[in-house]
Amino acid sequence: MPGDERSRAEAVLTCTGPKCLSGDLGLPMKIILANPRGFCAGVNMAIDVVDQLLDICPDETIYVYHEIVHNRHVVARFKDQGVIFVESLHEVPNGAIVVFSAHGVSPAIRTEALERKLVAVDATCPLVTKVHMQAIRYAKQGWQILLIGHADHQEVVGTMGEAPEAIQIVETPDDIPDLEILDPEKVVYLTQTTLSTDDANVIIDALRVAIPTIKSPPSDTICYATTNRQHAVREIAPDCDLVLVVGSRNSSNSVRLTEISKNVGTPAKLIDDVSEVEAAWFEDAETVMVTAGASAPDDLVNDLVIFLFEQHGGVVEQWDVDRETIEFGLPASLKNVMRENGIDPSGRRIVLDRAGDLDALLSRNGIDHRTVDLTIGRSE
Ligand code: SF4
Repeated sequence: MPGDERSRAEAVLTCTGPKCLSGDLGLPMKIILANPRGFCAGVNMAIDVVDQLLDICPDETIYVYHEIVHNRHVVARFKDQGVIFVESLHEVPNGAIVVFSAHGVSPAIRTEALERKLVAVDATCPLVTKVHMQAIRYAKQGWQILLIGHADHQEVVGTMGEAPEAIQIVETPDDIPDLEILDPEKVVYLTQTTLSTDDANVIIDALRVAIPTIKSPPSDTICYATTNRQHAVREIAPDCDLVLVVGSRNSSNSVRLTEISKNVGTPAKLIDDVSEVEAAWFEDAETVMVTAGASAPDDLVNDLVIFLFEQHGGVVEQWDVDRETIEFGLPASLKNVMRENGIDPSGRRIVLDRAGDLDALLSRNGIDHRTVDLTIGRSE
């Protein structure tokens, strides 16, 4: 972070909150909101697919294969609306609508859905699909693929299913001695989209030592949203006493944000929502960073910020590290369902910004806030 920006940010520390005004509750808190944080384009798209199906087909039960995104609150809200989440297509009645989650599925699942005459709506993130396509292409060309990722993650299971005979999974450098390499000149690596860039680089470096001829993918397969949220933590966390990450325990990219923070020396806590906050965490914390994994809804972040301010007073600053304007269009399979229900999909787009304007919310609550523009990167 440029020094003049940092001093500019520190110069605005003000105090209007209840703790500060009481005069006996210690220093007011500086709450730094990382931007970007929270929903990415793929999660927005996947959630909107289910919302639109609920709207288009009010009399039908919507089934979703696996959690639509890895967030407890998102899943609970859909369950409340009647959505049924399944771990096997056998749980879906013949002919029913089933949504494939943002993490993607293997071809075997798509075939099973076809054979069962299910109405499959594919909410796989296009950036996950991109990794699938690369796996298919390399496998067809006779390459061995080393897929860096977590073997039990649904995304990795789905990618693996595209070319199981060509893919070996690498979870840590310890897996490298056990790899079966047929021709070192025809080995390429790919990654899960939501890895820690720190961890992935350690594995890639170790692979390059073991197989110097290993080929890199044509473009980075850790996605822009994962990269940007981690980048913001690396930039901001060193100036903070504590980092709070809003996200669920099974959200890979949320867990990675806590790890990145710890890597740069700042303790971090992963919380599903404000109810999990513990007062003891703030005894020595004057500056607290708040961020959220790519599947965590904004309203949970907003609740946390309001709570912190009510408890500690101080000031809220949003530090803009990267600008994101990426949006994905409606999946073709959703457009088909729209047409079958007499709805013209042209002109319809994914709905964004569900939580409303944070600035307006803070103003309504009388919370002193400002934005610090550090814009280092941009994803369009
Ligand atoms: S985290 Fe990345 S890969 Fe996953 S849904 Fe979001 S944009 Fe897609």
